[in-house]
Amino acid sequence: VLAVAASSIAWSEEVVVYSSRKEHLIKPLFDRYTEETGVKVTYLTDKAGPLIQRLAAEGRRTPADMLITVDAGNLWQAAQKDILAKIESPVLDANVPPSLRDPEGRWYGLSKRARTIVYSTERVEPSEITTYEALAEPKWKGRLCLRTSKKVYNQSLVATLIAGHGEQQTEQIVRGWVDNLAVAPFSNDTKTIRAVEAGQCDVAIVNTYYFGRIQKEEPDIKLALAWPNQHSSGVHVNVSGAGVTRHAKHPEAAQQLLEWLSSESAQADFAGLNAEYPVNPRVQPTEQVKSWGDFKSDSLNVGEAGRLQAAAIRLMDRAGYR
Ligand code: FE
Repeated sequence: VLAVAASSIAWSEEVVVYSSRKEHLIKPLFDRYTEETGVKVTYLTDKAGPLIQRLAAEGRRTPADMLITVDAGNLWQAAQKDILAKIESPVLDANVPPSLRDPEGRWYGLSKRARTIVYSTERVEPSEITTYEALAEPKWKGRLCLRTSKKVYNQSLVATLIAGHGEQQTEQIVRGWVDNLAVAPFSNDTKTIRAVEAGQCDVAIVNTYYFGRIQKEEPDIKLALAWPNQHSSGVHVNVSGAGVTRHAKHPEAAQQLLEWLSSESAQADFAGLNAEYPVNPRVQPTEQVKSWGDFKSDSLNVGEAGRLQAAAIRLMDRAGYR
């Protein structure tokens, strides 16, 4: 009887989360949150597209209080589909820089990743890498590897190029990349990095944490990360992030969990478990992530990646980027 009473007190509050961030990256945080607050966190994981579809289809019947997903392109889509609630939170405003959250308060970045250039330390001097745009120059003919344009990460990168240069100039850049490809685009970032390691190409554009995973397995790998666009737009950054759902059954509890995930107490683990950067400027990244060096990030609001996503997809298609 005592056990039942205790558990019903401990779980008097609950938050239900739909997450496209992988279970092993969120479960340790949720377990800690339950331990610290007594609030039970139930979650379901799937890819971003199906989760957003599901929330839209469930409407006010949804059990979900929170959506966690990766890439501002996906968060922007969720906001467009009107499945996220606008929230006002001085805590989130203080913990998440303005460029990494929705100006209307429907989603907030929780970890930051850079989509940057990885290069072979055997075949490339770091000084040779200057900008994303320069990867379109003849110097890199037959030396570039890319992931497929079907992935939202590349759609977001190209969207931010459109924001900076307009469509015409961006199309020239993307055509240049396609001309310089050593081999057909790969299905994921890990294969793309492995192609540079194998000597199929000398440079590639990838998310930092995929390099981090490989570097953990092979500390002496002959690859390194470079930080392009340091005298112009800055490195393209994106987020994993979250929002409270429009039809949340536990909106206050969901907002409290979101605030906690952005806090100094949670940010080191939230980012560190995936070799990402904390969004909270008062929290340091892990030693491994720090070892890659400091860089200037693009200060454009990451939501622009969503707004210009459709234009980016059409442009990449015109440029022959598959
Ligand atoms: Fe990823």
